[in-house]
Amino acid sequence: AKAAGRSVIRFYDPNTQSILAQRFRLEVELRHALEREEFSLAFQKQVGLKGQCVGVEALLRWNHPVRGEVPPSQFIPIAEDNGLIVEIGDWVLASACRQLALWEGRSQAGKITVSVNVSSRQFHQADFVEKVVRIVDESGIRPAGLCLEITESMVLSDLDDTLRKMMALRAHGIQIAMDDFGTGFSSMAYLSRLPFDEVKIDKSFVQQSGEHASGNAWIIIETIINMAHNLGMRVVAEGIETSQQHEFLTNLGCDRFQGFHLGRPGNVQALEQSLDVALAT
Ligand code: C2E
Ligand code: CA
Ligand code: CA
Ligand code: CA
Repeated sequence: AKAAGRSVIRFYDPNTQSILAQRFRLEVELRHALEREEFSLAFQKQVGLKGQCVGVEALLRWNHPVRGEVPPSQFIPIAEDNGLIVEIGDWVLASACRQLALWEGRSQAGKITVSVNVSSRQFHQADFVEKVVRIVDESGIRPAGLCLEITESMVLSDLDDTLRKMMALRAHGIQIAMDDFGTGFSSMAYLSRLPFDEVKIDKSFVQQSGEHASGNAWIIIETIINMAHNLGMRVVAEGIETSQQHEFLTNLGCDRFQGFHLGRPGNVQALEQSLDVALAT
């Protein structure tokens, strides 16, 4: 019997099995995370050409009571698969807008934007636009203070629906960014066909630039920036880790900068402390 048991066990790849088991446990726990208030937002600043804070990106954090902080790369794909991302995404949007409203309410707060990542499943929900508009209205923020970050893969899954929703959101004054630009095959094609306000150059390009400012990365980044500017879009470089990268991208004409070199994602308190005056521009 023992030998048979062993042979059965050998039938499974132990690594695969533990990944599946872990995934299943995470999925169960994820279902409770919202009601148990285990989610929070980290904010990472985006700076302008003078180094001033011009915006923040809201990044979801899951503070698990036992596991500690679970990285988004681990739980967001699960939430996308089982549909929980819709509810979680609503929470992120409402929380980010509520925070921006607090900042806007302070006299010295300038016109910063808060950027929110939107997943494909969430974006393609029939009532997505109405929901966003309602959240913006209820929070009382300027609609242009919200920037939704979407990716090429979501555009790919339904171009017509994407265009329709982008037009509707823009009609309300809400901004839209193309995130992770350059990582897919069709980024360039979509940029000219869809009305984005902002393009975020993916950190994989940014990190190839700087130290050896030559070769393909340099040409690609310059091409992206020129094209985006010609289309009337602003350009954000993400994943800036060194002063060289910052300088290089400044010289190439980027408008905004984001990365560990300028500030790591942190809670509201940490973000405000890192700024001389609370969110002054
Ligand atoms: P993303 O939208 O590309 O966000 C940027 C990621 O790069 C963040 O990772 C951020 O912490 C990290 N980062 C920032 N500066 C640097 C840097 O200088 N160097 C490096 N190596 N990394 C940097 P994070 O917070 O782990 O998020 C990972 C991904 O999870 C995000 O990638 C986004 O796709 C997704 N995500 C995060 N929050 C949300 C959310 O609220 N909703 C949805 N749908 N997705 C989210
Ligand atoms: Ca993003
Ligand atoms: Ca990105
Ligand atoms: Ca991403």
